[in-house]
Amino acid sequence: MEKPSVGDSVASLCTRCKTVLDHIVVALERGAIVKVKCRTCGSAHRYRKPAEGAAAKTTRTPRRKRPAPPSTEALWAACLAHARGRERVYGTGGCYRVGDIVHHHVFGTGVVRKIYLHKCDVLFRDKQRLMASANS
Ligand SMILES: [Zn+2]
Repeated sequence: MEKPSVGDSVASLCTRCKTVLDHIVVALERGAIVKVKCRTCGSAHRYRKPAEGAAAKTTRTPRRKRPAPPSTEALWAACLAHARGRERVYGTGGCYRVGDIVHHHVFGTGVVRKIYLHKCDVLFRDKQRLMASANS
């Protein structure tokens, strides 16, 4: 095994994200990783070795049971990736189309998923919300 050094990428359990993610090594003690920083949430915490077998090495085991449906956040990220056009500031007077990216001052960035009369479904990072709009 190669010796880790500060700045390296390492898989660690993130205490905030509660899952195994890519981290950056920030502190070593006698050659062992003691502190890491999460690339996803940016929090620094003690290095937590991922559970044995689970995402430990780069061995590709065939996916077996994956009962968990994609989270709202994963769906939101996927929709954002497929959405086209520039982000627009959300307003009740706006007319939107499916796939539009809107920015709400409280809920953040969202993607329009469905259009109704005078309202639309917008998927935000935390959940989908029915929002007023000028659609007719
Ligand atoms: Zn994290």
